[in-house]
Amino acid sequence: MNRIQDRALIKDLERIVGREDVLFDPTELLVYECDALTTHKSLPRAVVIVSSTDEVSKTVKLLNSLDIPFLARGAGTGLSGGATALDGSIIIEMSRMNRILRISYEDRLAVVETGLININLTRTVEDDGYFYAPDPSSQTACTIGGNIAENAGGPHCLKYGSTVNHILALRVVLPDGSIVDLGSKGADSVGYDLVGLFVGSEGTFGIATEATLKLQRMPEAIKTMLADFPTTISASRAVSSIIAAGILPSALEMMDKVTINAVEDSVFAAGMPRDAAAVVIIELDGTAVETSVEAERVREICLSEGARSVWIAKNIDEKNKIWAGRKGAFGAMGRIKPDLMVQDGVIPRSKLPEVLDQIYQIAEKYSLKISNVFHAGDGNLHPNISYDGRDTNEVTHVKAACEEIMGLCISVGGSITGEHGVGTDKLDYVKLIFTPEDINLMACIRACFNPKGLSNPRKTIPSLRCRAY
Ligand SMILES: Cc1cc2nc3c(=O)[nH]c(=O)nc-3n(C[C@H](O)[C@H](O)[C@H](O)COP(=O)(O)OP(=O)(O)OC[C@H]3O[C@@H](n4cnc5c(N)ncnc54)[C@H](O)[C@@H]3O)c2cc1C
Repeated sequence: MNRIQDRALIKDLERIVGREDVLFDPTELLVYECDALTTHKSLPRAVVIVSSTDEVSKTVKLLNSLDIPFLARGAGTGLSGGATALDGSIIIEMSRMNRILRISYEDRLAVVETGLININLTRTVEDDGYFYAPDPSSQTACTIGGNIAENAGGPHCLKYGSTVNHILALRVVLPDGSIVDLGSKGADSVGYDLVGLFVGSEGTFGIATEATLKLQRMPEAIKTMLADFPTTISASRAVSSIIAAGILPSALEMMDKVTINAVEDSVFAAGMPRDAAAVVIIELDGTAVETSVEAERVREICLSEGARSVWIAKNIDEKNKIWAGRKGAFGAMGRIKPDLMVQDGVIPRSKLPEVLDQIYQIAEKYSLKISNVFHAGDGNLHPNISYDGRDTNEVTHVKAACEEIMGLCISVGGSITGEHGVGTDKLDYVKLIFTPEDINLMACIRACFNPKGLSNPRKTIPSLRCRAY
């Protein structure tokens, strides 16, 4: 498109959302050149800030009629390049659609606009004794729409399940601009599970504008424990032994020495033992009796696996401190080097000891600083590589190390992403775990929702063509 046509397009977009809410000045667009995966950058052609489903629909209809690609953006905290605008895409910025439309404790649900920041739902209902379970560590920034697109997880998803288990219904603007309602606010919906299909589709099936979410009742008691281990192997064994003992903690997280020290050097300092090789955070919830009995059993298991000490938070402040340390860990790593690659892979929990050991060996091979902080109970690893993006040699090493880590996860029967999605970052790895037939089927399903491929192009599945395409 030439500049005159672009000016006409901007005018048409301004007619839909207002003059202030279309950004096209290159300096303003810089803010949108990447998400939290800063190795992948691409400027959008424009950004349209929407305030309603109607505005999303009109914007998408216009872009579809002109064959211009587009994508939704929530908070841009994604770690796989999902919100990066490829092929001159226009970004549809959702953050202003952040209202809670309805709360029903009778039906235990909330209807929200998808630009709502995750934690704001729990903050709204917690005084009434409820919470929204999926709690990504980025929950003070990321949006419900981004969580839906990525099927986000979080520390408490071990017991409560990831985002897909908490969505009852969705209002979606399809890539041709039409509006559909998927799922139902009741116990079950008839026909295909289109909500299940949409969740995790990474913006390639259209734009969710409203979501009906399940609310959970706050448990009677919560016990948060911190076990200090002299080796990552003993910490990993304790994780498996707790689950094998028939206990399902609400959270079971691990942080290694490099992570602990980055946190303790930062504003998130939680008093964690700096000399520990790893700490395991165990949270138990349920009735007061149940949690007391389980906490004692967990303490015994940790000690028998070699823990040097097991500490239980005595009050809510101590509990919050532990979680601030855990959830602030990625931020704290900014102290190590200017850039951070947060990797995401899944392995069978029982393979943790050997896989962690091999990850440290990969770091050594490429002279990289790797730290591990992750959802150990789910076997969902986050090896984090601290590096300097200005050093091209180091960037090459980061890429090579990531490839080896992905290969390692696959070799032990795991997968290439637990919660951050494929985006642009992991397209090449998709071919390592799916056959061309599998990928073709996925492309065919995408073509039903997104026949022209305009919604978030070149993401999630590598480009193979199916007949329907
Ligand atoms: C410090 C840190 C900690 C993190 N911890 C976790 C964690 O514990 N668990 C976890 O799962 N992730 C985690 N993440 C990754 C990230 O926060 C999640 O993937 C989150 O769900 C992204 O939400 P967002 O609003 O920022 O989405 P964005 O980054 O803006 O977008 C992500 C994808 O969603 C699509 N999208 C956004 N809104 C919509 C919509 N309304 N409809 C359709 N598609 C849409 C975009 O097109 C894009 O493909 C973390 C990230 C950081 C930086």
